[in-house]
Amino acid sequence: MAEIFVDVLLPLAVNNLFTYRVPENFIGEIAIGKRVIVPFGKQKIYSALIKRIHNLRPGTGEMKEIQSVLDEHPVVNDQQFRLWEWMSAYYMCTEGEVMNCALPASLKLQSETMVMAASGFDPEKTVLTESEEIILEALKEKNEMSVAEIEKLLKKTNVHQVLKRALERDLILMTEEISQRYKPRKETHIRFASAYKEESALENLFRELEQNSRKTKQLETLMVFMKYLFDDADRSSVKKSVLLNYKDVSKSSVESLISNGILVEFDVIVDRIPLPGNKLIKPLTLSESQQKALEELKNAYKEHDVALLQGVTSSGKTEVYIHLIEETIREGRQVLYLLPEIALTTQLIIRLQKYFGDKVGVYHSKYSSNERVEVWNHVLNFSPSMQHNRSQIVLGARSALFLPFSNLGLVIVDEEHDQSYKQQDPAPRYNGRDTAILLAKNHKAKTLLGSATPSLESYLNAESKRFGLVKLTERYGGIQMPEIIVADVKESKRKKLMKSHFTPELIQSIQEALSNKEQVILFQNRRGFSNYLECRNCNFIPHCKNCSVTLTYHKQSHILKCHYCGFVENVPSACSNCGDFHVEVKGFGTEKIEEEIALFFPEARIARMDLDTTRTKASLQKIIADFEDRRIDILVGTQMVTKGLDFDNITTVGIINADQLLNFPDFRSFERSYQLMAQVSGRSGRKQKRGRVIIQTQQPGHWVIADVVANDYEGFYKRDLIERLQFEYPPHSRLIELTLRHKDNDLAGEAAQILAELLQKKLGSRILGPHIPLVSRIRNLYYRNIIVKIERKASSTEAKRVIKDCINDFYKDRSFLSVQILADVDPL
Ligand code: ADP
Ligand code: ZN
Repeated sequence: MAEIFVDVLLPLAVNNLFTYRVPENFIGEIAIGKRVIVPFGKQKIYSALIKRIHNLRPGTGEMKEIQSVLDEHPVVNDQQFRLWEWMSAYYMCTEGEVMNCALPASLKLQSETMVMAASGFDPEKTVLTESEEIILEALKEKNEMSVAEIEKLLKKTNVHQVLKRALERDLILMTEEISQRYKPRKETHIRFASAYKEESALENLFRELEQNSRKTKQLETLMVFMKYLFDDADRSSVKKSVLLNYKDVSKSSVESLISNGILVEFDVIVDRIPLPGNKLIKPLTLSESQQKALEELKNAYKEHDVALLQGVTSSGKTEVYIHLIEETIREGRQVLYLLPEIALTTQLIIRLQKYFGDKVGVYHSKYSSNERVEVWNHVLNFSPSMQHNRSQIVLGARSALFLPFSNLGLVIVDEEHDQSYKQQDPAPRYNGRDTAILLAKNHKAKTLLGSATPSLESYLNAESKRFGLVKLTERYGGIQMPEIIVADVKESKRKKLMKSHFTPELIQSIQEALSNKEQVILFQNRRGFSNYLECRNCNFIPHCKNCSVTLTYHKQSHILKCHYCGFVENVPSACSNCGDFHVEVKGFGTEKIEEEIALFFPEARIARMDLDTTRTKASLQKIIADFEDRRIDILVGTQMVTKGLDFDNITTVGIINADQLLNFPDFRSFERSYQLMAQVSGRSGRKQKRGRVIIQTQQPGHWVIADVVANDYEGFYKRDLIERLQFEYPPHSRLIELTLRHKDNDLAGEAAQILAELLQKKLGSRILGPHIPLVSRIRNLYYRNIIVKIERKASSTEAKRVIKDCINDFYKDRSFLSVQILADVDPL
């Protein structure tokens, strides 16, 4: 019989597939897309994914073999392999890295070292250390323990030495074991034993119980059980806990009924994500202009695979999406609906479930890994002939792209301009929007990009007819766009009218809103506003010991924290430089605004929405619910408040500091400023009443602000496009950023210089740098950047090939082997 081999993907940053022999007993089980357990390296075993099956023995040496096949059915399909290949080529990373990012944690398995007690030693004669005693004692209870469990047990972070010695002395055994992390949730149910399917058998049973006075309890229990059973015609069993909760039911009577063979107890696997219970309603009737937009989109799709829907805030883009979704699922195809930050989707989930009920699945990082596997499986099991699928429509963050779709018909990328579509770290450093377009193309599906403030890239694509373009220029229900007031901070400062960081215009507007019982949003940019400590005497500022950044002061927990590496320090009582006791909090973050605005409006109920206050799904939902139910008057927040909140009662929006946005040193800062200001303005006056926006700035005449005031996206787009022409910035060109890092600063510098020279020989003036980045040291590694700027018309595939060649040449100098190079294609 011919030998069979599989080429597998390992979840590592290694460039190739690895070949393993398939032992005969597994030959019937293997299939492309199934996971297998393979040995790799000295000790480790991994779960790997079969990508190819063949009979070509590589070389003549001894072959490693697969150890087992994990799946009954493939968990990854051809479409996914195709997407991963494209991503690895386009984003310059390995397919293993893409796979690592694509599979939910519960489907990824890595070996875990398990510890067991050895039996060969004589406990009487062996002298044990304290740690060994604790471990062996614990192992009497449990057969085996993971290293992590032992670390917890000993309250130590590194037990390697302890285990090594115990192993050498034959006290313990260690093995590598794969841990299957996904565990289905089970519920215990109760049904009639099959003998009682017959009506006559039931009648006999009841007669018997009625006649036996000692069995009244059982009879009562049985009555309750039957009442539940017949409540719903579809029901053939009752959940045990529900039954036991009933007051006439005792645990012992249930147990007796089971032991007497009348009832049977069994487990059912249930979904972790409960079904919405509400009745479905029909999508709303579209307004005339929405209807027109829908028709135009459908027309655009006759010629284009991608269309951009540019609709002002509150124009009802979501309603248009809903109509397209309805048509797509009617054709029996799947829909992927991407959102930038899933944080704010609660409102949208509810909205979609009203129309599509349990056809809507949700997939994002705030869901547990087990919940994600369930959505994954629903998507995997979809077939067009299916009556019902719990995830025919998936609402998700960018990672939802990786689900095992087989028949996508529509991909929606809402708020397509949003930066959080981009994954920064680790590889693949991909843009969810661009990847979505490719994914849709592979499925012959349509892509809909939606935004009030499209990215320059997408708008240029639409203008140059690569995408279809459809516009919605009015708000739903004829609500006017908000009135925008530019408050001149310089002027107010000169006249000494500022109240802390607030202009009289803003204070007055808040005042009015509050007295009308309306709500207020105050926006402060996240970047560059965090609080830090500064010594009033010597101006010393505490820095991170691992990174070249100042430590952020957290008032609530009273600590200093590095936002790059997580380093935490207690707040010093005196300056560590000069010993002076006057250490002040500087900066003006959301926390500070919350504190100061309370001084001016002591009656108002104020809350804050930023990364700190929304760590969990529940805390975020609480803020949103409190705001919606008007238990909050003023909501202070970062970027988060700009995104998609749809509340009726907000009439005032304050942008605390527009200059920080405009002056940020990045060629995209104008675009970001326009988008943020327009989006946050869009939160105001969405129903009935016209909203008002106060922009506080030192540059009231700035053209970007003028465009925001005039609600002139096209004007802004044209002007910014010209601004970027001077240095041929994107979208006139495309960028690839190479980052080098090393623990030795000089070596990092030298390496960057050499690599840049190699690149320049091939790509000439397209190479910029090396530069030392703004934050030049993170986690004790020193950073250098090299930018490759490629003409929009040139082939980026070719450029990437050249870059890879140069990197290979670079590593020929063995002294650079420890230098890491990361590539970021289309950096944001
Ligand atoms: P956008 O996504 O463009 O910001 P939304 O879709 O959230 O706008 O719509 C704004 C508001 O107008 C929502 O409260 C929505 O329910 C309402 N709305 C939009 N279109 C309709 C419609 N055709 N019928 C009734 N209400 C609508
Ligand atoms: Zn740090």
